[in-house]
Amino acid sequence: MTFSTLGLSPKVLAAVEASGYTTPTPIQAEAIPHVLARRDVLGIAQTGTGKTASFTLPMITLLEQGRARARMPRTLILEPTRELAAQVEENFNNYGQNHKLNVALLIGGVSFNDQEKKLDRGVDVLIATPGRLLDHCERGKLLMTGVEILVIDEADRMLDMGFIPDIERIAKLIPFTRQTLFFSATMPSEIQRLADTFLSNPIRIEV
Ligand code: AMP
Repeated sequence: MTFSTLGLSPKVLAAVEASGYTTPTPIQAEAIPHVLARRDVLGIAQTGTGKTASFTLPMITLLEQGRARARMPRTLILEPTRELAAQVEENFNNYGQNHKLNVALLIGGVSFNDQEKKLDRGVDVLIATPGRLLDHCERGKLLMTGVEILVIDEADRMLDMGFIPDIERIAKLIPFTRQTLFFSATMPSEIQRLADTFLSNPIRIEV
């Protein structure tokens, strides 16, 4: 199994090669073709399985197709912690090294000013923790009506940290026709119920 059969774009494949990866991990091999086909995905996978690239690589490929008007964000990735959000940003910058993507990292503990300046210039990709994202929406600086793909990562940790009401509010600010990718390390019944509310006819992948 190689990356070249999964449907990723040549520019993304070049970045994967530059990273030194030769073989997709099981979640990458299973998820990438479905994400590219615009299916919703329910991924049950721990950190360390390569799950980040299983969504960032196909998302960057999809971002090559078409451009939003006025550079409104087309993708939103929600992470439970600042550290995880920063890691995903690093992933985007690494795998998107051959793209001119504008990525905004919206996390707490950093001034609003710099984040707002970035939003004013126009962004393609938002990577955020739920609270700070809602703060930006309330300040009227962020319109999410152009979001095509929503990623809810580490859903079980989101639940533990009390973020589910925030995520429900965020989901209402995004078009209903979006594609949703939902990842969790564990799948207790409460998480399954949440997945059912956020996903539409998902492919279920467990690694
Ligand atoms: P993740 O589960 O997304 O946190 O990734 C775990 C680690 O595996 C990260 O350090 C990645 O850089 C690395 N990684 C991801 N995909 C691959 C791959 N296909 N081959 C080798 N390493 C990978």
